[in-house]
Amino acid sequence: MSENALLEVKDLKKHFPIKGGIFRKTVGQVHAVDGVSFTLQPGETLGLVGESGCGKSTLGRTIIRLYDVTAGSMKFQGSDITNAEGEDLRPVRRNMAMIFQDPYASLNPRMTVSEIIEAPMAVHNKGIKSERREKIADLLEVVGLRAKMANRYPHEFSGGQRQRIGIARALILQPKLIIADEPVSALDVSIQAQVINLMMQLKDQFKLTYIFIAHDLAVVEHISTTVAVMYLGHIMEKASSKALYANPKHPYTQALIQAIPIADPKKRKAAGEKQTLQGDIPSPITPPSGCVFHTRCPLAEERCKSEVPALRNLGENGGEHLVACHLV
Ligand code: SF4
Repeated sequence: MSENALLEVKDLKKHFPIKGGIFRKTVGQVHAVDGVSFTLQPGETLGLVGESGCGKSTLGRTIIRLYDVTAGSMKFQGSDITNAEGEDLRPVRRNMAMIFQDPYASLNPRMTVSEIIEAPMAVHNKGIKSERREKIADLLEVVGLRAKMANRYPHEFSGGQRQRIGIARALILQPKLIIADEPVSALDVSIQAQVINLMMQLKDQFKLTYIFIAHDLAVVEHISTTVAVMYLGHIMEKASSKALYANPKHPYTQALIQAIPIADPKKRKAAGEKQTLQGDIPSPITPPSGCVFHTRCPLAEERCKSEVPALRNLGENGGEHLVACHLV
């Protein structure tokens, strides 16, 4: 394990069986995550990006052990959590929290805000009632709501306010790692920036480490220290945010960056014609052989169909810039 790493993921796989026939036999596998490795240092924000269906949300949910691991290993704060169960899973659940995409579906409509935020404390038997109330009131203020809103129900709040409630719930046990699964995609553009700014501020205040999942590279640019681009269950490129946006090396990353809308008409003209990605992401049930991106890659050669490209470090001056492409 890398020294002081908060999380180390090695060759992680998560496959979902497909059942068919009258005996519900396994007739295939969805290769949602197919051999992902990375290390996360304390204080880092890893932006995990890719089109829908690339496996990024499954990866987040497998790390927090909402799903069992198919193969590979994971260490959190030096402890192997790959197959942790029962009591061994409690510290994982206490030190990792998740913020979900849909602030409407992720909050129980029959519970008050106070009950929603308190739930993780009750599960982990933390604090007495008065202490919990005080903590909830403090947290509501921290996330930009009012303490007196604690007795209201989710339907009385806007989408942005609900996501703030979800953030308060994630913070209540003072976790070390927060996995935010598309936390702003369901929000209006004007509200997205407010929630991202809040998360950046909380990161410093609570000394958090984030895995920030998004389908849009533009969203993670300002919040991430490192960005990993995923495609069909694999990491295609991983580098510091600065290096990845300034010098994207993988054809898939280049296409995603090209797809970012440019608001300024002068810059739009200077950027020239956009190269858009053709076709849909292939099925993860029968992923393409060789480089999984070869069916959509404008640079694909014959060997791309049979040889899997290794994730190689092409970083300069000792920096890490990992790329999985034969031609780079
Ligand atoms: Fe394209 Fe081949 Fe590189 Fe894959 S290995 S990204 S198909 S050029």
